[in-house]
Parts: sequence; C-alpha cells; structure tokens
Amino acid sequence: MSEKPLPEITPLNKPFWDAAARHELLVQRCKRCGRFVWYPRGSCPYCGSRDLEWVKPRETGTIYAVTVARVVVGNSPAWEKEMPYAVAIVDMDDGFRIYGRVLGAKPEEVRPGMRVRVDFEDISTGVAVPVFRPLP
Ligand SMILES: [Zn+2]
Repeated sequence: MSEKPLPEITPLNKPFWDAAARHELLVQRCKRCGRFVWYPRGSCPYCGSRDLEWVKPRETGTIYAVTVARVVVGNSPAWEKEMPYAVAIVDMDDGFRIYGRVLGAKPEEVRPGMRVRVDFEDISTGVAVPVFRPLP
C-alpha cells in the first residue's frame, strides 16, 4: 500500500490533507464572495480576495465526467493491480469541482449524472485521498 505515489503536502494544502487523513472533506471558501474554492490557493480565483477560510462543504455531488483507467501512465505500478477503475470529475453540491476514483460500482457503469458521496481511501499511514461512492 505504501508504494502508491503520495501527495505533495505544502503549507497551503496541509489543512486539506490533515482533514483527509481523518476522512473529512475540508475545502476553502472565500469570505468575500462566498464561493467554494478547490484546489487550495492563496487567493480566490473568482474575486481575488486573499481572505479564505477552511470549511466543511456538503459531501455530495454529481459526476460531470468520467474515464476508466486501464493502463498505467507514468511510474505508478501500485495502481495497476486495481485496474480497471473509474476516475471522475465531480460537481459538488456546493459549487466546486474535485476529482477522484469511483469505488463501489463497476467502472463501466459509472456515468455522468450519477449522484455520489465523497469518501476517503487510506493509501499510506496518515495519508488518505478522496474517492467517491455512488449514492443509492
Ligand atoms: Zn471570492
């Protein structure tokens, strides 16, 4: 499990990864315009404000686009034994987009429009990444 490439944790994105390790989704929200911001940044991409706070968004969303990974690209053989798997871009209900693997459904059955909830997958000690599971 430890052979999977690990995310690069920086002071800017550390709150996200700390929360992910606890299996909680934490994203930035702009205190000026109120929009949710993903991925972590130093200023709001919508209004330019640097006044961002970390908040817990709703954990549900709708798949915007999906692809099925069948071959290893780059040097990440640790993922190979889990292939094929679906990777989706998800429009979260609070208005930001995030991507991750979709677990709990056959890859070929994952479709745009499918409702999902975020979950977390431990990929190493103290490191978890967001994944998505279809809502019933
Ligand atoms: Zn803003």
